[in-house]
Amino acid sequence: MATNEEKSSRNFIQEIIDDDLKTNKWDGRVHTRFPPEPNGYLHIGHAKSICLNFGLAKEYGGKCNLRFDDTNPVKEEEEYVESIKEDVRWLGFDWEDRLYFGSDYFDQMHEWAVQLIKAGKAYVCDLNAEQTREHRGTLTKPGRDSPYRNRGVEENLDLFERMRKGEFSDGSRTLRARIDMAHPNLNMRDPVIYRILHAEHHRTGDKWCIYPMYDWAHGLEDSIEGITHSICTLEFENHRPLYDWFINAINEDRGPDRPWGAPIVHPQQIEFARLNLKYTVMSKRRLLELVRQGYVSGWDDPRMPTISGLRRRGYTPESIREFCVRVGVAKFDGVSEIALLEHCLRDDLNKRAPRVMGVLRPLKLVIDNYPEDQVEQMDAINNPEDPSAGTRKVPFSRVLYIERDDFRENPPRKFFRLAPGREVRLRYAYFVTCTNVVKDEQTGEVIELHCTYDPATRGGDSPDGRKVKGTIHWVSAAHALEAEVRLYNHLFTKPNPDDVPEGGDYKDNLNPNSLEMLPNALVEPSLKDATPGSRYQFERQGYFCVAPDSTNDRLVFNRTVSLRDSWSKIEKAIKR
Ligand code: ATP
Ligand code: MG
Repeated sequence: MATNEEKSSRNFIQEIIDDDLKTNKWDGRVHTRFPPEPNGYLHIGHAKSICLNFGLAKEYGGKCNLRFDDTNPVKEEEEYVESIKEDVRWLGFDWEDRLYFGSDYFDQMHEWAVQLIKAGKAYVCDLNAEQTREHRGTLTKPGRDSPYRNRGVEENLDLFERMRKGEFSDGSRTLRARIDMAHPNLNMRDPVIYRILHAEHHRTGDKWCIYPMYDWAHGLEDSIEGITHSICTLEFENHRPLYDWFINAINEDRGPDRPWGAPIVHPQQIEFARLNLKYTVMSKRRLLELVRQGYVSGWDDPRMPTISGLRRRGYTPESIREFCVRVGVAKFDGVSEIALLEHCLRDDLNKRAPRVMGVLRPLKLVIDNYPEDQVEQMDAINNPEDPSAGTRKVPFSRVLYIERDDFRENPPRKFFRLAPGREVRLRYAYFVTCTNVVKDEQTGEVIELHCTYDPATRGGDSPDGRKVKGTIHWVSAAHALEAEVRLYNHLFTKPNPDDVPEGGDYKDNLNPNSLEMLPNALVEPSLKDATPGSRYQFERQGYFCVAPDSTNDRLVFNRTVSLRDSWSKIEKAIKR
């Protein structure tokens, strides 16, 4: 049993399940599902739903199904099915042998539709889409009955069967539930439950030319699988009465002494607020548009909020799961901070990513008083957070490269790094003092620095207590490996991409600087055999992940996230 303290931190869905267990509503069962439509790649919002559904099943010793809600043949593809499976697995969840497809239930759903027709609860309607809309009314005006609403059962059965056989053209007829055209909830105004669509389905081929509407199919899929807690996002709250109506309508004619057999399972739908993130978009329609129109390199572009994009960027499943826990489960919509997601990532990588030195924008530095041919192996700590990670050797020599940003000819106040006449520490190596600056005669650009070093400061320690304010990273020119580094920024310039002047489009807010390529970076030689997907902290520069297209001849790194954590500041501002 949960203690009081644990109890208070439980979310409202856990509280509902706790109560159900107490009242034995489901004989102790907890069975959830994650029901993606295979019409795109999964995004971080789906991750929240995955963590919630699989997480609850795990917590309560229940089960969670992976079910593809593939009732729309037009937009769905096998590629998406495979990517979704990969992403769920990568996030760390296991559906075991419970992989299902809504399309496997088409026969059963069809049979239930026939049951409703026989009970006078559904009818074939000959209105086209536009006429159906006209008859529907508005939030303030009741709808009007379809002229076909009072068709007899026999005629309905005949027409529905002919719809199924393919006698009618797309959109010419529908099967509708007979509910109430004046219902205050528009979803209840005789919703369409089957439409005619002569289209190949990725699994059922050309077996069907009528397809169930999402609202008809979704709740029935849950019922067939014996789902106890059907968790979905808030926009489905006012569809719940309809899902309940469908199941009740089917069950009214079922029971021990009824013609249709045993009642079907009636899952409880629970709605929670969907995850939104600043500086990005989350709708699959938009993500598809960005991919199709070439604004990004694909669904897995490291700037995309997709799971595959985050993976390519270097995110860990652990950090995404932690983020989902920390955003919590609420009943009201909000927009989460990317800074929190990045904070969770840094927290995780800080513990496990080995440190290395890499120079993104190299500036040559020559130590004039260091012996020409000497090379020293300096001891460097692999991870200060994890002593068991040990140390490594980093070669040091007379000619080095440092970060261009770490030198200023005219340093502003509070700039403590290298400047003419100033002494700084080269990490793990020596103190050096800048003695001379070489510039390009034509452009005036600084192209080379000259320094002297103090041999007594080996390892970066001062023998006489002399202090330097700056410590900078470096690589040895003769030993460094060339690398291409890609830096990423937010995909959109505004926290809310929809913030555009009248007539504008969210794409107007795409960030032209979301990708910065640095083709001339240099990294320390220990990275020689770095394999795609491995993650490192480049000291002072952030966390980097070896890109999938990296090779031993040409290393490529994606910057996963910089080191500067803005979350605590934002968190304080939110709490205030
Ligand atoms: P989109 O609106 O982008 O097409 P969707 O909700 O239609 O997304 P589905 O494939 O139907 O995508 O989603 C599968 C599951 O993931 C659903 O249960 C849905 O509620 C949930 N889900 C989708 N987006 C989010 C989100 N932003 N936050 C939390 N859960 C989400
Ligand atoms: Mg959906």
